Amino acid sequence: MTSLTDRVTDYQAAAWACEAAAGAETFVAVYAAHTSAESVARGINNGRIRAYRPAGRFEARAFPAEGGAAVWSRFTAGEALPALPETLTVRVPNYGPQKGYEGVRVVTVEISARCQVCGGPRGELRPDTFRRDGVSHVRDAWDNPCGHADEYKAVLAEARRRQEGYPTGRSRGPVLAGVEGGAYRAAVDLIAAEVASWPWVTALRVIPLLEKAGEQAAADAVTRFRAEHGSGSNTSARSAALYLMHCDEEALKAAATTTGDVK
Ligand SMILES: [Zn+2]
Repeated sequence: MTSLTDRVTDYQAAAWACEAAAGAETFVAVYAAHTSAESVARGINNGRIRAYRPAGRFEARAFPAEGGAAVWSRFTAGEALPALPETLTVRVPNYGPQKGYEGVRVVTVEISARCQVCGGPRGELRPDTFRRDGVSHVRDAWDNPCGHADEYKAVLAEARRRQEGYPTGRSRGPVLAGVEGGAYRAAVDLIAAEVASWPWVTALRVIPLLEKAGEQAAADAVTRFRAEHGSGSNTSARSAALYLMHCDEEALKAAATTTGDVK
């Protein structure tokens, strides 16, 4: 099977490297399609892929990675190794939105046990004491064996995505951008800029910003959205912006249909 790098994976070399790592996880390949990665992982586990025979000497799994899914394997020599952790509970500093800085607090959040770039295992946690405004805090620090660094801001965003049920990995679904010709175009762009600097800004917080920018109709629409469709005070600005984009798209579609009817 051809991987994302568009070359046939050298399974024999990958299997030797894995055996030499003596139980540590090693990278096999990354695939655009998750199903391809899962098929390769199965082939390693059941010995369909010759380099990993006899079956049971290696163990492999597919994990979400940038650009698709990555297969990682470890050499078991047929023995039962401790199960790989699915999640990590980490203490991270939260500085809040940069505007209106109010200091730092350490929050405990749940994240994937895997690197969000390559799908490899994240490093072991260690307590890390730091000082801020004369006060000592303890956060967790870790170094991923793959070399990809996890910034605390990205870790908080990942934890938030998990809570909201977004698919994990770095992609965040539809891009927020004003609909060309839409009545809410400027409003959506304004919200998108807020979301870019603080991913979980609430809908409530952007309403006064919209009013100040002269986008009263959008402010009213977001107020209605919070009341009718949102989850109360937790309604995110992101979901409100998606709603405004939807309204604009529907309005433009309706306008196009009406024009089409005129003979
Ligand atoms: Zn990585």
